[in-house]
Amino acid sequence: MTRVLVIEDEPSYVEALELSLAAEGFEVDSAGDGKAGLDAFQRRHPDVVLLDLMLPGIQGLDVLRLLRKESDVPVIVVSAKDAEADIVSALELGADDYVTKPYSIRELIARVRAADRRSAAGIGTEVYTLGSATLDAGSLKLQLAGAEHDLPKKEFEVLRLLMERPGRVVSREEFLDRVWGFAWLGDTRTLDQHIRRLRRRLESDPDAPSIETVRGVGYRLVEG
Ligand code: CA
Repeated sequence: MTRVLVIEDEPSYVEALELSLAAEGFEVDSAGDGKAGLDAFQRRHPDVVLLDLMLPGIQGLDVLRLLRKESDVPVIVVSAKDAEADIVSALELGADDYVTKPYSIRELIARVRAADRRSAAGIGTEVYTLGSATLDAGSLKLQLAGAEHDLPKKEFEVLRLLMERPGRVVSREEFLDRVWGFAWLGDTRTLDQHIRRLRRRLESDPDAPSIETVRGVGYRLVEG
């Protein structure tokens, strides 16, 4: 049974999530602040974490940072904060997904299922090379001229899809399907943020490949 930990201080959200997730067959634990969330994580070993950002005591982003020190459990940030900077910080710290409040409970549950399925799938051992860039599935490291980048898992998976077939277009639907498992939701904001961050890394090296936008379709990787 999939166990979900909800770290959220707003009782109405907690209640709605507990009911809906339990009705879908999930086992649910909840914690009303960051410290209780971290304690519950240690005790209960959840398969997926839903994390609010504005929490009393330890803030959500700090909870995420501490979780990532010891675990790559899928973390879906669920927050009323919808500024791009907040989303970027959460993804940079290794959140798998970001959902803004108010959300559709059915959509959130679909994302929980997808996160759980994807996390069971594992990463691999392949090494991909293009131009001066080397991507290592074993360590999630991107090697560029003069710098090594530890990629969050989702960022790694986005770049891997591009490096699997340089020069060819990867559609938005395929990214969402293969990296997040929810192409049918059609929400591409998380994808766009990952592309932006990868571009920033690749631009630090003039000989690295670059990510081109193919309007209305998706992205492709071209040699630098
Ligand atoms: Ca809150």
